[in-house]
Amino acid sequence: MPTGGQWLLLAVFGLTTVAAFGIAPDTVLDTVPTTRVERVLPVPQIVAEDVDAVYWREERVQRGDTIGSLLARAGVEDPAAMGYLRSAPEARPIYQLRPGRPVHVAVDDAGDLVALRFRTTGNDELVIERGDDGFRAARNVPVEEVRTTLRTGEIRSSLFGAADAAGIPDQVIIALADVFAADIDFYHDVRKGDRFAVVYETRFIDGEPAGTGRILAAEFINGGKTYRAFQWRDEAGDVGYFSDEGQASKSAFLRSPLEFSRVTSGFTMARFHPLLRTWREHKGVDYAAPTGTPVRATADGTVTFAGWQNGYGNVVFIRHQGAYSTVYGHLSKLAANLKVADKVGQGDTIGYVGMTGWATGPHLHYEFRIADQPHDPLALDLPTAAPVTPERYAAFKEGIAPLVDSLALARSLAGTALAARE
Ligand SMILES: [Zn+2]
Repeated sequence: MPTGGQWLLLAVFGLTTVAAFGIAPDTVLDTVPTTRVERVLPVPQIVAEDVDAVYWREERVQRGDTIGSLLARAGVEDPAAMGYLRSAPEARPIYQLRPGRPVHVAVDDAGDLVALRFRTTGNDELVIERGDDGFRAARNVPVEEVRTTLRTGEIRSSLFGAADAAGIPDQVIIALADVFAADIDFYHDVRKGDRFAVVYETRFIDGEPAGTGRILAAEFINGGKTYRAFQWRDEAGDVGYFSDEGQASKSAFLRSPLEFSRVTSGFTMARFHPLLRTWREHKGVDYAAPTGTPVRATADGTVTFAGWQNGYGNVVFIRHQGAYSTVYGHLSKLAANLKVADKVGQGDTIGYVGMTGWATGPHLHYEFRIADQPHDPLALDLPTAAPVTPERYAAFKEGIAPLVDSLALARSLAGTALAARE
C-alpha cells in the first residue's frame, strides 16, 4: 500500500546507498568493480487514508482464480460487492487481470468490501469504493516517477558479461552501444579492461519498475581512448548526443553494420573462416552472426547493386555521399523488395546474415570503399554530424554539468573499488 511511509522508505534507501559508498567504500570491495547509485527524484505527496478499522490486503491473481476466490483470500464475505463486481460494466477490467497482478483490497471487521484497487491492463489504476448508495468506480492516472540510475562496469570477458555484473538491463547496454555506434565497433573493438559508465533513467509507476528510459550520459574507455556522450537538444529541437566539448556523437557512418545484441555478441567466427582471415587478405571486415541476423546500412545512400555475385553470394552495394560506398556480402536473403536505385537510410535493414557465396559459415562480409578502393573501416576517422554551435555552447556546457558530475562520481567509485581489490 503506497502510503507516505513507503515512499519515504524508498527515498531513504536511495540516500543510504549513496552514503554507504561515501563512508565505507570497502563494503563493496570484494565484488566486481561495479557501482550502483540511485537518486530518488521528488517524493510524491500522498495523503494517508482514513484507516479506521479498515485493513488493506494485497492479493495476487492466481491461475484459475475467480473474483470470488481472490476476494475470499482477502477476507471478503460480501454478496453485495460480488454482485456489483459481476454486473457493473465499469468493474469489468478486473476480469482482464492476468495471474501475478496485484489487487489491493480494503475490508472492514465485518468482512465487507470497503475498497478495491488494481492496475488495469491499460496501466490506469481502477479504484472501486463503497459509498452511501452502493459501489462506484473511478480511474486514477498512475503516479509516474523517473529515477536516474548510474552504473559502471569493466569488461572482463564481454560487454554483456560486464553489464550483467553491474545489473544493467540489456535494453540499456544496447542503447549504450548505439550511442557510441559511430566511434566503436562493438564486435571488433571492445577489449578486456575497457571501462564504461552510464547514467540512465528508470521509470516507476506507483513504485513498481516499469522499464528503462533514455541514456542521459555515458562514457566508454576503449583501448585507453575515452569517449563521452551527453544528451542534448540541438538547435533544430532534435535530441542527440554530444561529447563534453560539443562534438556530435552521430556520424555519417555507423561503425558496425550489425546491431549489437546478446545473440550476436557471443558468436565466434574462429571456426568459420579458414579461407581468408584478415582485412588485408580480403579487403573487408567479417562479422560472424547467426543466419537471419538483420544487416543495416551503415549510412544513408542509394543501392547500386542488389543480387547475386560469385564469391559474395547475395550481396548489396550502396553508394553514399562523396566518394564513399559499402558492400554487404554472403547474405541469406535481401530485405524485401530491395532493388537498384532504392534510397536507404542509416540503420535501415537491407538484408540478413547468411553464408551464400564463398563462405564456410554464417557471417557478414562488409567492405568500405573510398573512390572504389577498399579501406579498413575500423581504422578510419569518419565524418561526424554538426557540433554544438558557438552561440549555444555556453548553454550546452551548463546543461550537461550535472551529468558531467554524475560520470565523475561513477569513475571515482569504480576507481576506489579497483584500487582496493589489487
Ligand atoms: Zn569477409
